[in-house]
Amino acid sequence: MRSISILGATGSIGTSTLDLVRRSRDQWRVVALTANGNVGELARLAREFGAEVAVCADGTKLEALREALAGIGIDAAAGEGALVEAASRPADMTVAAIVGCAGLAPTMAAIAQGKTVALANKEALVSAGEVMTALVAKHGTTLLPMDSEHNAIFQCLAGSSHKDVRWITLTASGGPFRDWSLEQLQTATAAQAVKHPNWDMGAKISVDSATMFNKGLEFIEAYHLFPVGLDRLRIIVHPQSIVHSMVEYRDGSTLAQLGPSDMRVPIASCLAHPARMDTPLADTLDLAAIGELTFRAPDEVRFPATRLAREAARAGGGIPAVLNAANEVAVAAFLAGQIGFTRIAATVEAVLNRYAPAAPAALDEVLAVDAEARAVAAAVLAGG
Ligand code: NAD
Ligand code: MG
Repeated sequence: MRSISILGATGSIGTSTLDLVRRSRDQWRVVALTANGNVGELARLAREFGAEVAVCADGTKLEALREALAGIGIDAAAGEGALVEAASRPADMTVAAIVGCAGLAPTMAAIAQGKTVALANKEALVSAGEVMTALVAKHGTTLLPMDSEHNAIFQCLAGSSHKDVRWITLTASGGPFRDWSLEQLQTATAAQAVKHPNWDMGAKISVDSATMFNKGLEFIEAYHLFPVGLDRLRIIVHPQSIVHSMVEYRDGSTLAQLGPSDMRVPIASCLAHPARMDTPLADTLDLAAIGELTFRAPDEVRFPATRLAREAARAGGGIPAVLNAANEVAVAAFLAGQIGFTRIAATVEAVLNRYAPAAPAALDEVLAVDAEARAVAAAVLAGG
């Protein structure tokens, strides 16, 4: 029996993870489950899985959570400090599935345990960069990539030497607007953006898929997870989302990982690592039914996000944290109907042009860069 904590348990990744845990309940003891503010759902999950502690990030929800969990011996806590405390409770595996830089501090606390962290929360790694990878190295933590592309690359690398890698190619679906003209993109709504053709995901990552910021963030994520150098990382659009990414070796051999567009596959790969486990996906990959796998180069005129991310990765230091924070603010404004779709990338570029912090050396410095970049983004959006 292994112990597991799930940060962001009520989200898309969190519930897919719990779906797999539910199917092999006798193999897992659940330590911490966390959510932002959805007390009812968090309490329901904590009861079902007999969690040791349930935490709401929203500090005002403490009383409601305590009431919902009264008398059953599950600790209830709330607030950002409580999130970090819960992530520090000993667990063999922590699934980092909070959305945004809000997940950074608890993810770092989980990493500091020196056990295994399965990372879905790409914004945390993009923001912290070397501050996170240094902590992983310091504690000898096993960091397993849960993002489907990075999980694919991890499988294709299978312990090979990075020196033998010629290319790592991240595939991108291109999102729901991949065939839209620039004029059409100006009219794209939040409802259209969150309807992804292949994947069922949270709102923020769905918008990121539509703008291609998701692939931009993943480019920076790959740079940190697989240090082959920026010049050996590239992106290709693959609308069917069957090939999840590829590794080409120096002898000319390319390995790809294929599978259905269901996050339970990469999640299972992390949960069972280095073994394999069953998933409830009964259908075998039917390439004859799929018929065609197609590929094309990304269009960075209509979708500038991957260019901005590549430039931010090259600049390094605190710049990726600025890119991420500006994108989080712009996506929230887009989802709230305050700005149009193409203003998201324009806002990120404007913030990058205004704010170039020194490289953060520790977690609190990363969080300070994140906070300042959010303030600059808010000013840009306000026209200031
Ligand atoms: P989601 O919006 O469905 O869920 C987010 C979770 O984080 C929820 O449990 C929510 O309560 C919690 N949360 C939100 N704001 C918080 C805050 N300020 N403080 C603490 N907790 C907070 O998101 P998701 O789609 O599950 O994505 C989670 C992460 O996984 C993201 O970083 C995303 O990029 C990454 N990811 C998701 C998918 C996917 O298919 N959904 C695939 C690859 C990577
Ligand atoms: Mg991905």
